[in-house]
Amino acid sequence: MTYPVAVLPGDGIGHEVVREAVEVLEAVGERFGLKWEFHEASVGGQAIDQMGIPLPSETLELCERSEAVLLGAVGGPKWDQLDYDIRPERALLGLRKELGLYANLRPVQLSSPLADASPLKREIIEGLDLVVVRELTGGIYYGQPKGIELLGTEERGINTLIYTTSEIERVARLAFQLAAKRRKKLTSVDKANILESSVLWRKVVIRVAQEFPQVELAHMLVDNCAMQLIRDPRQFDVILAGNMFGDILSDEAAMLTGSIGMLPSASLGGRVGLYEPVHGSAPDIAGQDLANPIATILSGAMMLRYSFNQESAAEAIERSVLRVLEAGYRTSDIYEEGKRRVGTAEMGDLIVREIEAGG
Ligand code: NAD
Repeated sequence: MTYPVAVLPGDGIGHEVVREAVEVLEAVGERFGLKWEFHEASVGGQAIDQMGIPLPSETLELCERSEAVLLGAVGGPKWDQLDYDIRPERALLGLRKELGLYANLRPVQLSSPLADASPLKREIIEGLDLVVVRELTGGIYYGQPKGIELLGTEERGINTLIYTTSEIERVARLAFQLAAKRRKKLTSVDKANILESSVLWRKVVIRVAQEFPQVELAHMLVDNCAMQLIRDPRQFDVILAGNMFGDILSDEAAMLTGSIGMLPSASLGGRVGLYEPVHGSAPDIAGQDLANPIATILSGAMMLRYSFNQESAAEAIERSVLRVLEAGYRTSDIYEEGKRRVGTAEMGDLIVREIEAGG
């Protein structure tokens, strides 16, 4: 089996962390007999510098020809003064839209060796294992009309929150399928006491739930969910939310673990899945061998699981990461007294060696 993967390192620490993830995928490929075809292309600020736009057609075509995309991160101060429409971050919206990626999955698991890095007490957080499924291509970020208009002597900013039945149905179905393979509990988040679009959201989710009688469905208002994530995060298995609520809740859930350098993500829905760390390009530490590559390495594990159905290979990566942490190795972002501090490349090498050793 040969797996063609588009590799888009992007900007800042993107190159450093993607390099390690590719080495880990090579190692796991050797062990499980999977052949990779990695093709690299530019995106974000790097593409602006080379070709004047953040998502060149060559890059998009490469992604469409591949079976999965591994992305680092885009953006940085160098491009912050550009117009919104040609900023590096536009590439992300373009990729999601063109590849039909309507669902973003962010697993939040707390590795036991890192429980003390969490801002919450160990007894509240230990064993945490949830996934936020965020609708990614609809809702208030895309609804029309939008803009800023002149209204007499003042300006008025407008955004529109719209969801259609089919947009809700497809992301809900994906979230139920995921819950059915996990602890079989889905919490759908909305603001149905105020918003009509949420009333429809809830109605459609209840209808889709009938296809999954084995999954327990609960509804939660978004403000309560924000609170419950801090009070008792282990009550959740799969959290399903629209674009804006999901954006906010997934960042909140992410920080429960205490380290952004550990968190992977997958964007699914189309033929080609996109896998990337939750963090950005971290210009403050770029090029210094300081970045934690684990979020990107775990995104590679998600690629094996969701795009290629290679569960054992995915688990081998996850297990190897855990073993290296248990052995006391830490990049600077997760370093604590008494542990062994390593750089980006060494952390990648340690995980590769663990995989080679059958970890
Ligand atoms: P960021 O995630 O890049 O960095 C936030 C903080 O976390 C920084 O102190 C950084 O050093 C640290 N950090 C992030 N990743 C780390 C890692 N792997 N290891 C160790 N430390 C890590 O967020 P930001 O500073 O708000 O944004 C920087 C740039 O990245 C901006 O241009 C922003 O637009 C862009 N960005 C891109 C994406 C993406 O490509 N998906 C996501 C978020 C931000």
